Amino acid sequence: MPSQTDDLVHDDDVAVAADFLDYLRENSLDPPGVSRASFGPGERMAHARLAEVARCLGLVLQTDFVGNLFVTQPGWDPSLPVVMIGSHLDAVPHGGNFDGAAGVAIGLGVLAGLRRRGARPARGVTLLAIRAEEMSWFPTHYIGSRAGFGLLPADALENVFRFDSGRSLASHMAEEGFEPERVAKGEASLVAAKIHAYIEPHIEQGPVLVDAGIAVGIVTGIRGNVRYRHCSVRGTYGHAGAVPRVARRDAVMAATAFVQEIEGYWLAQEAAGADFVATVGQFFTSASQHTITKIPGEVHFTLDMRSENNAVLMAAHAHLSIKAREIAEARHVSIDLGPHTHAQAATMDGDLRARLRRLAVAHGIPAMELPSGGGHDCATFANQGVPSAMVFIRNDKGSHNPDEAMEIADMAQALRLVAALVDEIAF
Ligand SMILES: [Zn+2]
Repeated sequence: MPSQTDDLVHDDDVAVAADFLDYLRENSLDPPGVSRASFGPGERMAHARLAEVARCLGLVLQTDFVGNLFVTQPGWDPSLPVVMIGSHLDAVPHGGNFDGAAGVAIGLGVLAGLRRRGARPARGVTLLAIRAEEMSWFPTHYIGSRAGFGLLPADALENVFRFDSGRSLASHMAEEGFEPERVAKGEASLVAAKIHAYIEPHIEQGPVLVDAGIAVGIVTGIRGNVRYRHCSVRGTYGHAGAVPRVARRDAVMAATAFVQEIEGYWLAQEAAGADFVATVGQFFTSASQHTITKIPGEVHFTLDMRSENNAVLMAAHAHLSIKAREIAEARHVSIDLGPHTHAQAATMDGDLRARLRRLAVAHGIPAMELPSGGGHDCATFANQGVPSAMVFIRNDKGSHNPDEAMEIADMAQALRLVAALVDEIAF
């Protein structure tokens, strides 16, 4: 618990948030870690608990046809667009307790503070608990937020299956009492024009804040990605001793030259100050054919590139396509990058970022700016034109694993910063 409090956030508000997290952990233990399946028992439990706590605080509750839960402190002018704080309550199998839930807990703490102070903002302040963010359950991104905006493609309902049950998204959604047929029609419970600002607090999923010794992060943008899941290099199998170098069509040598090209591009981007990361997460020869004494004739690999800047991603795609052709020609192999997918990067609102920077200084909250490497529902809001911001909380050992380690004192700092922003833009 922080010893230092100010009027906006009291130790009691931090305790509401921390108790909520404790309850979630105790009720979704699945050693090692916790599991909260999207449209499953864990997520249901978490939503029910949020509703229970929110009712006790005297807040207004509403669940949409997707299952997203809106918890609102009404404003005195209902015609004004609301200030929204949002995050998700599902958690990957055997994951940590804080990914997603810490953001909802912070929203709950902010609302608890408003109730405690008897504050009546001009704008409504809404905490949104978003369904099904973790792609490990249903392999499609941002289900709850996209469905809320009426943007989830109808075919995802029948053609996306939960990994554990094998049943469709529509089936699980209906089982939890929601209405996939309204999702299919593209109905919307979220309308950009009715949201003044969207703020998503989240634990940091990388080591930047821990390494910097700073409790709170102000996110500059959410990295988009370009992904190639089926890259291949094809050469010719041959005897490891009998074929001279110039006569070889070695798929591994060509593939590694291409990977070196990726790293070279990365270094150039870094030198130019551009945001860029790249990962070759899978890289393998054909298990049925390769041996220590054979020149490899075939390599398959994946490539995941991310940047805050869509132009950087498109330039990388163009550059690497040319390099693939050059390397293939020089080494007498074929390089096929296969189809790629592109998730748009999202820019965080400049005004909200400036306010957060100023408020952090004014309230003595140690904070720094950084990009978000992981995707978040916030990208959906930002790309719908809602002024959006993310606040990161220092967290050791990454996320999506049982070892994630966020200190409640750090969460309290993020809570103070979000409360200060709400105080400035909702009243
Ligand atoms: Zn998350």
